[in-house]
Amino acid sequence: MATELPIIDRVSDEYFMGEALRQAARAYAHDEVPVGCVIVRQNRIIARAANQVELLKDATAHAEMLAISQAQVAAGDWRLTDCTLYVTKEPCPMCAGAIVHVRCARVVFGAPDLKGGAAGGAMNVLQFPTLNHRAEITAGVREDECRHLLKSFFQERRLAAATGTAASDLIDATRSGEKPGPESE
Ligand SMILES: [Zn+2]
Repeated sequence: MATELPIIDRVSDEYFMGEALRQAARAYAHDEVPVGCVIVRQNRIIARAANQVELLKDATAHAEMLAISQAQVAAGDWRLTDCTLYVTKEPCPMCAGAIVHVRCARVVFGAPDLKGGAAGGAMNVLQFPTLNHRAEITAGVREDECRHLLKSFFQERRLAAATGTAASDLIDATRSGEKPGPESE
């Protein structure tokens, strides 16, 4: 009936956020801030991306931006009006701006960002009254997992900075059950 409204389905949301989490884990493994994104159209993933700022040496290479470019290619259109974007962390103003430009119907995110988030955390670019498009927002899907990934990444990064070890070495050490060096904070 309500074909014009985005379909909100918690089970699918959790599933697709799981796919975004896999992308975030990929970023983590490459010493990138662990944020992952997938874009879904008619229950099918048409784009998936991990944050690649360090690899590409490009501050605009956020997971959402990369996924949006992929989705536009897949759709053969710059408009993503019937798509839902899943991202593990609340989008920043740049990504939220892009989401508005491509007229994405709905955004689902995991961890909120009260300092920089543009989906209601620090500001709400996705539903700004005078812009020509507003996206539906669902917050807090698999929030704990999304938040945990970010938290442990930054903890490891601080520890690595203090001990002069690469974060990836610390991850390996953690996985093999060894304790990384003593925390200096
Ligand atoms: Zn962003």
